[in-house]
Amino acid sequence: MNVPILDLKPAVDELRPALDAAYRRVMDSGRFLLGAELEAFEAEYALAVGAAHCVGVANGLEALQLVLMALGVGPGDEVIVPAHGYIATWLAVTHTGARPVPCECDERTYNLDPERISALLTPRTKVILPIHLYGQTADMEAINAVAARHGLFVLEDAAQSHGARCHGRSSGSLGQAAGISFYPSKNLGALGDAGAVTTRDAALADKIRHLRNYGSKVRYQNEYAGLNSRLDELQAAFLRAKLPHLVAWNTRRARLAARYLDQLRGIGDLVLPFVPAWADPVWHLFVVRTHQREALQQHLAAHGVGSQVHYPVPPHLSGAYRATGWKRGDFPLAERLATEVLSLPIGPHLSNEQIDYVCATIRSFFAR
Ligand SMILES: *Cc1c(COP(=O)(O)O)cnc(C)c1O
Repeated sequence: MNVPILDLKPAVDELRPALDAAYRRVMDSGRFLLGAELEAFEAEYALAVGAAHCVGVANGLEALQLVLMALGVGPGDEVIVPAHGYIATWLAVTHTGARPVPCECDERTYNLDPERISALLTPRTKVILPIHLYGQTADMEAINAVAARHGLFVLEDAAQSHGARCHGRSSGSLGQAAGISFYPSKNLGALGDAGAVTTRDAALADKIRHLRNYGSKVRYQNEYAGLNSRLDELQAAFLRAKLPHLVAWNTRRARLAARYLDQLRGIGDLVLPFVPAWADPVWHLFVVRTHQREALQQHLAAHGVGSQVHYPVPPHLSGAYRATGWKRGDFPLAERLATEVLSLPIGPHLSNEQIDYVCATIRSFFAR
């Protein structure tokens, strides 16, 4: 049996008539940017996550960057980011000229540890930027409480958490604004690059509408020094075709995750995902931990099972941040997670049999 770590083709096959219709609508309209498809998708996505406003942009990285730009975050400012996570979150801060300040994560949830934030705050701190990593929201109640105490803005990195809930509320509506990615492999993925900002703040949304389009809403009148970061009509139309299936696809992911959790309990030194009572994750990734990661990964590969590491290099040790002087030992938990985490195949189009086969293959590894 073969179980790929990721296969995007089945979703296209399932929705081919709707995707073909979306393509034809855009071709027939003759309008390819900032048109009716984008406007409709923004309204539909805002409704789906319970946010007042949604602004489509070119990708997830720039969604985060545009929020920071709109807030006036720049050189001299500091933004709290998770030490364990994807580098895009840090880069969004770096591209504004501000400094990412890494905060270690909770060892069980892999998300920003609210207890450790206060010690990192300085008069220059402007924003707390938690990631809802692997599809499970960070402890937003505690993070929002810290932010409220210190007058800080909370920006969610909701790139991996479309539809995930925290105390019943949807990611994308848990802070003051959220940056979202529709990169093809995300739970809601475009057929190319796409992203969005959601927020309850009308003035912020309006400013980002300027900033995504050269700082201009009226042609050749440029209020701000903006980016070119537009979500094009074709991707908006494809996303509209896929959005109605997001809940069912997330439910299917949750069923498969439950199957993994059931069958992988108590095997070797395997650490399984931990879900707090208030969290309702959407299982963007199913991540386990083991001290024998490389050997397990090889064993899985030898038996036709794909796996991947999210992420092998903590951002502070990556080449992009070499000049900052961060070194090994600065964020020990993030460094340890980077050596232990392993993502197993999960996705709405995998079968129960495929999950059972992955579990059997893992059991056979630890039984050797
Ligand atoms: C995918 C991702 C991003 C960046 O999204 P792009 O659309 O690829 O720019 C940012 N943060 C996290 C956590 C992601 O997983």
